[in-house]
Amino acid sequence: MFTIFDTLDYEERVDKLAKRRGRAKELGLTECTGCGACCARMPCVPTPAEVYLIAEFLRMRVEDCVRKYFVVYWLPKRPPYLLQAKTSWLSCVGNLVERSLTFEDGYCIFYDEDNRTCKIDSVKPRVGREYKCWNTEQLSFIDQTYKSWEGVDLELFGARPPFIPVDAPKELKQNG
Ligand code: SF4
Ligand code: SF4
Repeated sequence: MFTIFDTLDYEERVDKLAKRRGRAKELGLTECTGCGACCARMPCVPTPAEVYLIAEFLRMRVEDCVRKYFVVYWLPKRPPYLLQAKTSWLSCVGNLVERSLTFEDGYCIFYDEDNRTCKIDSVKPRVGREYKCWNTEQLSFIDQTYKSWEGVDLELFGARPPFIPVDAPKELKQNG
């Protein structure tokens, strides 16, 4: 498992990136600057229905879309879910993200760094639409977003097992 130091180090690197690219929060703004820090920290979590929407937007079969642009992600006491890959996770598309790559730097595969936009803006997950770095309140529907993956067969989306790290402690495998 990762230590608190890995997480702190990662957050520090994301903060540096955010400051360099002008995150709204640091600038005292209440409008997104498109800095991409949130898309670099962790891609926005979709629901299963939103994965279908993204595949439809890209005119792809959902299985092909997942094997090209998504990874399986797992958090303790949550069901495993699909997540847009980061550019540092391309070796894992269609599979569970390798532990060693979890805190690697990189943007969400759909972030356009030069133009500061989301390439799938019209169909990006609700989490991405409603997240505002200048507002510290947690998104009220985030638990529902994780819960929407309960009982979903990720293989039907084209993902390849295993979906939970083999070394994950047993007590953390249960859904919270
Ligand atoms: S919402 Fe995300 S992209 Fe927009 S300014 Fe904040 S961190 Fe940057
Ligand atoms: S889907 Fe778009 S908004 Fe969401 S993390 Fe990726 S680039 Fe950012």
